[in-house]
Amino acid sequence: MKYVVRGIPQDVADEVRRTRVAPGYGHPAHEEIARATGPCRCCLRTFVPGRDRRLLFTYRPPGEPGSLMAPGPVFIHASRCEAFADDGFPRRLRELPLAFEARASGGRVIALSAQPGIPAELQIQRLLARDGVEWVQVRHAVAGCYIASVKEKGPAVSRGA
Ligand SMILES: [Zn+2]
Repeated sequence: MKYVVRGIPQDVADEVRRTRVAPGYGHPAHEEIARATGPCRCCLRTFVPGRDRRLLFTYRPPGEPGSLMAPGPVFIHASRCEAFADDGFPRRLRELPLAFEARASGGRVIALSAQPGIPAELQIQRLLARDGVEWVQVRHAVAGCYIASVKEKGPAVSRGA
């Protein structure tokens, strides 16, 4: 089963960098030098503590209309970075304690996996294979904050005539 991992979209991250306010909430984003590894929710790389500058703001993860996705604090690089757009699981996230929530329709959490000894790919595959699971939300297993969303990759769209 193939899947895609995506953090905060490029346009949303760039807007926060430009306006310095939280999308949808309007309160100020806070800039600081990283005191921990994060990660950045845009490029899905860890911060270098004491060196990287980052923005802290409130973010509400995407969900289907009507779902009550809980907002929470997230960090992104203060300077522009490229939103993660590769296949597979982001290599730099493996350094972090992660929790994977299986989400069903309406954003309901129907299973949780947070097993440090088991590769992220395997935990994701197991959750996506369960009945009713539509996507998986990746969270920081210690801080609890949203990191990324994982969806099953659909079949390739035919471009034939
Ligand atoms: Zn970044």
